[in-house]
Amino acid sequence: MSEVQEREVVIIGGGAAGLTAAMYAVRYGLNSVLLTEGAPGGQTATAATIENYPGFPDGVSGAELMARLTQQAENTGVEMESVRANAMERDGERWQLLTDGPSYSAAAVILCVGASPRRLKVPGEEELFGHGVSYCATCDGFFYRDRTIAIVGGGNTAIEEALYLADIAEKVYVIHRRDELRADAVLAQRVEDTDNLEVIWDSVVTQVNGDDLIESVTLHNQKTGEDSTLKLEGLFVSIGFEPNTEFVADLLELEDGFIVTDQRMATSQPGIFAAGDVRVTPLRQITTAVGDGAIAADSAHKYVSERR
Ligand SMILES: Cc1cc2nc3c(=O)[nH]c(=O)nc-3n(C[C@H](O)[C@H](O)[C@H](O)COP(=O)(O)OP(=O)(O)OC[C@H]3O[C@@H](n4cnc5c(N)ncnc54)[C@H](O)[C@@H]3O)c2cc1C
Repeated sequence: MSEVQEREVVIIGGGAAGLTAAMYAVRYGLNSVLLTEGAPGGQTATAATIENYPGFPDGVSGAELMARLTQQAENTGVEMESVRANAMERDGERWQLLTDGPSYSAAAVILCVGASPRRLKVPGEEELFGHGVSYCATCDGFFYRDRTIAIVGGGNTAIEEALYLADIAEKVYVIHRRDELRADAVLAQRVEDTDNLEVIWDSVVTQVNGDDLIESVTLHNQKTGEDSTLKLEGLFVSIGFEPNTEFVADLLELEDGFIVTDQRMATSQPGIFAAGDVRVTPLRQITTAVGDGAIAADSAHKYVSERR
């Protein structure tokens, strides 16, 4: 069996939350390591342009922002290992971490493993991602001023995003697979009251069409069985997120797969903290992820200091 590496704090996940938590951990003088699957950067590295992260008046590409943050973490002295965490278990007062590389033993663990927007999984979606297909209305809605767009979904988040987009775009279609919205009645009423919002009921997107940019989507009406084409310039997909929590599902209190924390980012287990998109939170953004990461490191520092 390979040697177990001992640390005061292990941070898992190299996105905005994890890189921030790791920098704070180093600055608190904690003996720590950041484990991340593949290269650091997380979801943000895949975003074409970030316009709502403070300090970049002309916007910044997601790749550049995360390259800068990674550089900053390295300059701060963060130790980074490119491994995937596969399992976690209690070992007395400490936590044992099994990865596809070495094993780790830590007094505290900060989980920053993120979540991924659920995909439609239809032809054309992946090819036109960033070319009209988006998973984040707050991030990309601004680019669709006076355009015709659609949002897929019928829950509270999708409808809140549809109402937000209706203030920007000329016309917003809501494509929903059922004959009534799952969203709260008050939101559903606002949809009815908004002139440039139109719901396309009982329908699913079966294909996203376009060469370099999205041009239309193919819709299938589940009740009538009819297929149709809807011309549009943008497609927002808002059908939920999939948190990367399978490896801690039996260990921690979860809500819809997301980790429940208090405002100090403490989870249901002593010494385990969570930050960023992976936790139950009202807003999943870079700003909130870095804030969570800083708080989680502060909490881990207090937890470890009390036990030294
Ligand atoms: C296309 C797109 C555009 C966006 N645009 C914006 C925007 O304009 N503004 C904005 O504020 N937000 C935007 N967001 C949202 C923002 O990217 C997220 O809120 C942010 O990335 C959350 O950071 P995080 O660190 O919590 O998680 P993530 O960025 O998801 O990072 C999680 C990290 O954990 C790693 N990981 C997962 N499981 C394991 C494991 N078992 N072991 C080791 N490592 C693991 C992953 O590889 C990844 O590096 C966008 C998101 C997307 C997808």
